[in-house]
Amino acid sequence: MTQPNRITVWILGDQLLAEHPSLAAAREAHAPSEICVLLIESGQRLARHPYHRQKLVLLLSAMRHYAARLESQGYTVDYRKADDTLAGLRDHLDAFRPNRLVTMQASEHRGRRFQAGLSEKLGGLPVAVLPNTQFLLGRFNPIPNPEPEKRYVMEHFYRAMRTHFGLLMDGDEPTGGEWNYDKENRKPLPKGLAPPEVPGFEADELTSEVIEEVRRMPNASGSLDDFHLAVTHHDAEAAFEDFLAHRLADFGPYEDAMSREHATLFHSVISPYLNLGLLEPLDLAQRAEAAYRAGRAPINSVEGFIRQVIGWREYIYWQYHRWMPGYLENNFWDVDRSLPEMFWDAETEMNCLATVFRRVIDTGYAHHIERLMLVSNFSLLAGLSPRQVHDWFLCSFIDAYEWVMAPNVIGMGLYADGGLVSTKPYIASANYIHRMSDYCGSCSYDRKARTGPQACPFNYLYWNFLLEYEGLLRGQPRMGRNVLGLRYLDGPERLRVRQDAAAFLDTLG
Ligand code: SF4
Repeated sequence: MTQPNRITVWILGDQLLAEHPSLAAAREAHAPSEICVLLIESGQRLARHPYHRQKLVLLLSAMRHYAARLESQGYTVDYRKADDTLAGLRDHLDAFRPNRLVTMQASEHRGRRFQAGLSEKLGGLPVAVLPNTQFLLGRFNPIPNPEPEKRYVMEHFYRAMRTHFGLLMDGDEPTGGEWNYDKENRKPLPKGLAPPEVPGFEADELTSEVIEEVRRMPNASGSLDDFHLAVTHHDAEAAFEDFLAHRLADFGPYEDAMSREHATLFHSVISPYLNLGLLEPLDLAQRAEAAYRAGRAPINSVEGFIRQVIGWREYIYWQYHRWMPGYLENNFWDVDRSLPEMFWDAETEMNCLATVFRRVIDTGYAHHIERLMLVSNFSLLAGLSPRQVHDWFLCSFIDAYEWVMAPNVIGMGLYADGGLVSTKPYIASANYIHRMSDYCGSCSYDRKARTGPQACPFNYLYWNFLLEYEGLLRGQPRMGRNVLGLRYLDGPERLRVRQDAAAFLDTLG
């Protein structure tokens, strides 16, 4: 028998919003004593991939802290560990007998499919699925009805978002006269410049318990030796405040720089919290703008940050839902090489990749240029299976969810979607990596050599890629300069490129 007028608010683990719309909706029609909040840890979901241990601790500890916070606010909370989500929901119904359930639309496609038939799965219980407010797209969609074949670039999307939300705008014009200050934001890190450390947070009793549980999970990956992430709204706030005070001003110029010593440089490292709902995108953008208006950070840094939060992040989410389902199966280059072991053990002579893989194993983090111009660039040049690369990103990073990794990896990183998300394949030789980092100086490979036993693999793989796909790339307006470079390779050098690339790729297994 159902309880009279009792409602369940089912909150998903990556939707830990301070002001959750499902709770607000429940409060409109129910007394607090009639509301039960349900959170489910699904064993099947947690074991779906070999997720990084730090990601698992972040998620589970944040969920449990969120549950404790709601309890302290007077809510009844049913925090459930179940074999899978449906079992958790059914067990909850048996125990609490609500007469309806409210939840927020999932961010990922699989979750939305599950929600679509939820009432039926729950024996006809009335279910309300509220719009997702974790993304600004829920409030304003610049392209609500895209034409089927039309490509929409991020810049168009971003400008519409800036204008609608009035961010860095002076009337109808962008503040400072430019929409984009990227040209000022491509500096390498000067020698001797030491970025401030990102603050860490001590594990409390709840987090320590989760750490011990996650240590026992057989299918997980990555190190748990040094967990210091924020797991509450309060600490996520403190992490963002620290970024505003100490790193935002220099974020712009060095946002594409890479460093052996400094993993986080001037990056905010707030994406793990934003993607869990511990921070809210518009609030972050407005506070970054306030720092600019108060003279605490220059326009190129603030615009670059705001573009990432309300431009790129929302655009990626929009693209994901535009192309799902089926998007993960894209394989434009028709390649299927398996991921080499170095992705999991960081064992490679390539200094840049070894450093970044080691970093990912230790912390579950590498910044966006290391993801794009090192790992994805290498994966594209080496013809690695797009689905395997995507899955590696999905389980290895503390901020990874399918809605962000699918367009970022399948689309932007690998161009495996043939240009649905990105306007060109991002490929580079050692030249770019050397210009933007300090990796090459201490590498056993020669960054200047194109071929030969000591030549940097990025070099012959880059030229090999151009030779392999010359016909296809000639049709890409933004790849013209790369393809033109082939003019400088004579016949014997082309042969050496092909041979060195083939020999190297053979070593990957
Ligand atoms: Fe990476 Fe090549 Fe530079 Fe070595 S030489 S660090 S492999 S780009």
